[in-house]
Amino acid sequence: MSRIVFFCIPAHGHTNPTLEVVRELVSRGHEVLYYSYRMFQEKIEAAGAVFVACDEFDAERHLTPREGTRIGSDLALSTRVLVDTTLALDEMVCAGMTRLRPDCIVADSMAVWGKAVAMKLGIPFVCSTTTFAFNQYSAKIMKRSVKELFSMVFSMSAVNRQIKRLQERGYPVKSILDIIASDDRTDTIVYTSPQFQPCAETFSGKYAFVGPSIRPAAGKVEKARDKLVYISMGTVNNDLLPLYRSCIDALKDTPWQVILSVGQQVDIAGFGPLPEGITVYPSVDQIAVLEQADAFVSHCGMNSTSESLYFGVPLVMLPRTTEQGGVAARVEALGAGIHLKSATPQAIREAVRKVLEEPAYRENAARIAEGFRSCPGAKGAADKIESCCKG
Ligand code: UDP
Repeated sequence: MSRIVFFCIPAHGHTNPTLEVVRELVSRGHEVLYYSYRMFQEKIEAAGAVFVACDEFDAERHLTPREGTRIGSDLALSTRVLVDTTLALDEMVCAGMTRLRPDCIVADSMAVWGKAVAMKLGIPFVCSTTTFAFNQYSAKIMKRSVKELFSMVFSMSAVNRQIKRLQERGYPVKSILDIIASDDRTDTIVYTSPQFQPCAETFSGKYAFVGPSIRPAAGKVEKARDKLVYISMGTVNNDLLPLYRSCIDALKDTPWQVILSVGQQVDIAGFGPLPEGITVYPSVDQIAVLEQADAFVSHCGMNSTSESLYFGVPLVMLPRTTEQGGVAARVEALGAGIHLKSATPQAIREAVRKVLEEPAYRENAARIAEGFRSCPGAKGAADKIESCCKG
């Protein structure tokens, strides 16, 4: 039996895929501890791990609401939050790992404090990547707009200031790439298939492409009409009332059933009376909905996209960050969805109509689903972790 410690950032999208892996490790008799945030405590414990709270060290709590919406798209701000969190957690995490002496640390690619403490204390380390693995080849699909390029250039000095703060506390980090890029020497689990990962052949044998980790649906959704369109912009930057209104405008007076998940920040009463066939929820059992859906209007978070494709559901894509833009570009290149540049009701309606009516989108989504289903999944991830445990 081994003792394995997980670290993750406070995001559903980064936490969810790891839970099946925790469940698998626990069922094999390993002890798993999971450093995370109270909002995830229940589901981490339900997966069988011992939960350790990091909430009081989370730098994102101190952001203004305006800064909060820029996380993920503003590189300087995102780096500052990562560095603040790493430094705040430093003492607690180092003391914990010295006491626990785990056989392996598994940290999300953004939870740099996990990788850093593994390096400091010489503990075997596995990187857990819930996005595409990122190297100079796969980065090319992250087509950046001119505006983003400009803002990156201007933010570099601010980013470098943050990197210096890490170096001053003894972290062996040379540049932002050490934090966000994958490297060929680190054992890495990637929650996608080699077919969906761009340029999979350019990554070393240290990478295990285990496929998306899809949790089981908690219930069953009954379809009320022939076609079901599902809309969600994820769980992070989802305070997007005008966009939801645009979707409702686009899909009212159509023969399709529409389920819209808007998150906890939008007041549903603000929509007023809803057109027939359209229902709005703060949150849904997304897997249960996707099992029945025929199209998904999505922000293209990696998990939502994988879940959609796993059930062969084509996408209409409205990405909001560079990473989501990369995912959308990949889906479009494989012919399983339409990347919308403008979110007008007409554009949304037309794109939804196309993915519903032109069979090629569904066929291409089904082909990606086949690749996902032939991956080793949580069992493959657990095998990788076991092979990295010391002793
Ligand atoms: N999700 C859900 N119900 C909802 C909306 C989202 O269960 O109403 C889940 C979804 O299944 C996915 C995760 O939340 O696993 C969202 O992750 P993603 O990477 O797509 O986007 P993020 O929230 O990180 O932007």
